[in-house]
Amino acid sequence: MGIMNVVPGILDPIPGGKQIVNMLDYVTNWARANSLWPLTYGTSCCAIEMMSSSMARYDIARFGSEVFRASPRQADLFIIAGTITAKMAPALQMLWDQIPGPKYAIAMGACTISGGPFMYDNYSVVRGANTLIPVDVFIPGCPPRPEALFHGLLTLRDKILRESFRTPWKEGEAIDQPYADRWTEACKAWAELERIKDEEQAEARRQFKENNPDYKSSYKAVRVKKDAFPEVPRPVAPVIGLSASELFSIALEHDPSITLYNSDSKEISPDRPNDMPLDIIVSKEKYVDLISFLKNDERTNLNYYIDVTAVDWESHFDVITQLMSIEKGHKFFVRVSLPKDDSIEEEKRATSILAEIPSICHLYPAAEWKEREVFDMFGIHFENHPDERRLFVDHDFKGYPLRKDFTHPHIMKRPV
Ligand code: SF4
Repeated sequence: MGIMNVVPGILDPIPGGKQIVNMLDYVTNWARANSLWPLTYGTSCCAIEMMSSSMARYDIARFGSEVFRASPRQADLFIIAGTITAKMAPALQMLWDQIPGPKYAIAMGACTISGGPFMYDNYSVVRGANTLIPVDVFIPGCPPRPEALFHGLLTLRDKILRESFRTPWKEGEAIDQPYADRWTEACKAWAELERIKDEEQAEARRQFKENNPDYKSSYKAVRVKKDAFPEVPRPVAPVIGLSASELFSIALEHDPSITLYNSDSKEISPDRPNDMPLDIIVSKEKYVDLISFLKNDERTNLNYYIDVTAVDWESHFDVITQLMSIEKGHKFFVRVSLPKDDSIEEEKRATSILAEIPSICHLYPAAEWKEREVFDMFGIHFENHPDERRLFVDHDFKGYPLRKDFTHPHIMKRPV
C-alpha cells in the first residue's frame, strides 16, 4: 500500500480529489477490516478459547477471519493467546517482525496483559505482550470467552475503519517501562482513590448523624449455623502387584543397607495403607546397582520410569526416582540424599552445581529429559548423562529456579 499513501498528496489539492481519497479510504478499510487473517499462535489455556471461536458454534468466519494462517507472511492479525515465557519472547518478536504491515495485535487474556496468575514470584513469565510488540486491543479475562474475543475483534475493526491514507498505518512501539514500575504507579493511584472514597464516606456519615441525631439502626447481625459436612471414609485401595513389605524384603535381599524413608526401623508398619508407594533411601554409590536390580529382577520387574524429582533441604538435596511395573502394577520410589558441596564460595553458590548423582539413562531412556529437568531446576549434575543441557530456561540463565537460594531480578513479590 506504500504507493497509495502518496495518493492524498496528489488528489487532495484537485477539485473533487478529496472525495476520491475518502472513497479509497472507505473501500480499503472495509476490505481490511473484514478480512483479518489471524496467525496460528497459542501458548496455553486462552488458546483453547481462541480455537473454539473458529469452530461451528462461534464461527469466526462471520467476521472475515476464516483461516488461521500457518505462516506469519500470510497473516495480518496476531492474536496472542496464552502465557508468554521469557524464553519464548524472542520467537514472538520474530513472528511479529515477519508479518507484513499493516498488521494488528490482540492481547487475549490476563497472562498476555500482565502475566496474569504468574505475575508474582515468577522468574520466567513476560509481564505484558506490549513490552515486546505494540498491541492494539487488550481483552481481559482468564480466559476470555469467544464472545469477548469477538468484542475485541469488532473493536479492532472499528479502529481500522478510522484509518486513512492521509495518516497511513505505521508500526507502533512496545513500551519499555518495566511492569513493576507501572504496577507501582497503578497501586499509588488506586490507594489515592480509596483514600478519597473513605474521606467522602466519613463525611457523609458525619452529615447523616448531624441531620438525624435520634436515628437508631434496626440492623441486627444474624448468625446462620450450617451443618458440618459428613465424614467420608477413605476407601481401602486394593493391593496391586506386590505389597510394600514384599517389595521391601526383595530389595533388602539385594542391598541390606537400604532403609525406609521416614522410619528408622527396617520393618513396614502393618497400618501402612496399601496405596502408598514404597519409598526407600539408598546411598548414592549403590543407587544405580539397586535400580538395575529392581528393573531386571522378574519378581519386581520395575520396567517403567515414572519420573525423577528433587527436594532442596537446608543441608542436602533428596533426589527421588519413581518406578513402576507395567505388568504387575506396583510402584517403588528410590530416594538418594546428596549433601551440598561446601567448598563453593558463598557468593557463587546460588549459580553453581552443588551436588552430583549418577545418571540412569542407560537403564531407562525416558530418564534423559527428566534428569535434564532436575538439572535445570535444581543444579544437580547427573554423571554420564548423554546430553545435560538446560531444558526450560535459556542456556545462559543464571541460577536454578526451584532452589531455595534462587533470586531473580524479574521476580515481583506479592505485597502483604
Ligand atoms: S489468562 Fe488464564 S486462561 Fe489465559 S493463559 Fe493465562 S492462565 Fe490460562
